[in-house]
Amino acid sequence: MTKCDFLVIGAGMAGASAAFELAGAGRVVVLEREEAPGYHSTGRSAAMFLATYGNAIIRDLTVASRSFFADPPAGFSESPLWAPRGTLTIARADQRHTLREAVTQARRHVPTIEEVDGAEARRLMPVLRADYVAAATFDAEARELDVHAIHGGYLRGLMGRGGEVVTDAEVTALSRNAGTWTAETTAGVFTAPVVVNAAGAWCDEVARLANVAPVGLVAKRRTAITFDGPDAVDVTKWPMVIDVDEEFYFRPEGGRLLASPADATPVPPSDVQPEELDVAVAVERVEAATELSVRRIAHKWAGLRSFVADDTPVIGMDEEADGLFWLAGQGGYGIMTSPSMARAAAGLITEDTLPGDLDERGLEAADLAPGRLR
Ligand SMILES: Cc1cc2nc3c(=O)[nH]c(=O)nc-3n(C[C@H](O)[C@H](O)[C@H](O)COP(=O)(O)OP(=O)(O)OC[C@H]3O[C@@H](n4cnc5c(N)ncnc54)[C@H](O)[C@@H]3O)c2cc1C
Repeated sequence: MTKCDFLVIGAGMAGASAAFELAGAGRVVVLEREEAPGYHSTGRSAAMFLATYGNAIIRDLTVASRSFFADPPAGFSESPLWAPRGTLTIARADQRHTLREAVTQARRHVPTIEEVDGAEARRLMPVLRADYVAAATFDAEARELDVHAIHGGYLRGLMGRGGEVVTDAEVTALSRNAGTWTAETTAGVFTAPVVVNAAGAWCDEVARLANVAPVGLVAKRRTAITFDGPDAVDVTKWPMVIDVDEEFYFRPEGGRLLASPADATPVPPSDVQPEELDVAVAVERVEAATELSVRRIAHKWAGLRSFVADDTPVIGMDEEADGLFWLAGQGGYGIMTSPSMARAAAGLITEDTLPGDLDERGLEAADLAPGRLR
């Protein structure tokens, strides 16, 4: 039996980042079902940092994560955690009204957002069709994240602080006795007074193992493809393009282009694979908006984005199960918000309070707590 202070279930971005932040306060063990950490949502994202994405709470968490990505702790990573990737949000003539509303909201978190007309949008992204794009906004502060460097940095940092990651360790039973949780896993038995439920799409399943009420998590499948850009054109400096109603997006990725139909199909948690129809929709939408033609798909995949009813993450101690901490419902924002969510989790676990900077932004523990959903 292995004893520790904090047991973290799931070694995706949520579990890895929370474990890193908790490691200063005690011995942390992360339990991961798969052979390799990051196999599920974390390894399948579009890797963007957009402070204009999601609801106001998510935008606050994203802005509060900026300084970590810009200036990580010493030794965290040998390479930068992010790089500029300006983002054009485009609208057809019939979407102008939505764009106006979106820009008003977006400026609360990114005051520098520019409004541009169709011609300027096409100057910034020459393949956009003139008869498609009527107006756009440009976010020069958007960034592309190096998910591998961030996730690897958290895991290495955790180990450097004395923590441990156990892979091939699926938690199969959870019980509480005399102030201690016992986790039975495929790699042995582990105990700790605090368990952090960071199992991504499986967080409600982990709660059921502990006989704790679920929070109503819904996993939604999202598809992505990569394909070659036009012959002899360097696409690497192109901005990201996203439709204002989020019907599709595309951006450069390793010399190719990455696109998604922005699908959000509710599915039971599993190792999801892309559906041909969603791949076809991605191609159709990109080709309708641009002069690009997708001749061959280089790579396609799907991943899960998990949401609760109010689309806001669940960060807090379960009100009914002492010592069971939720870190769930990261939706499509779990990479860009990981630094602030991890600090929020560590603050709530060790001091029962949010870190000062999150408090100053007006974030309240009650808005993140699982109890709001029950
Ligand atoms: C196509 C796509 C595009 C996205 N784009 C972005 C983006 O641009 N920017 C952004 O910030 N976010 C984006 N996201 C969202 C982001 O990927 C997720 O929010 C984030 O990865 C969630 O991390 P996680 O650690 O909660 O989940 P996961 O990475 O899924 O990790 C959960 C882990 O828990 C483990 N686990 C589950 N049950 C058990 C158990 N019983 N025992 C042990 N281990 C268990 C799983 O094996 C898994 O490794 C995107 C997602 C998708 C799918």
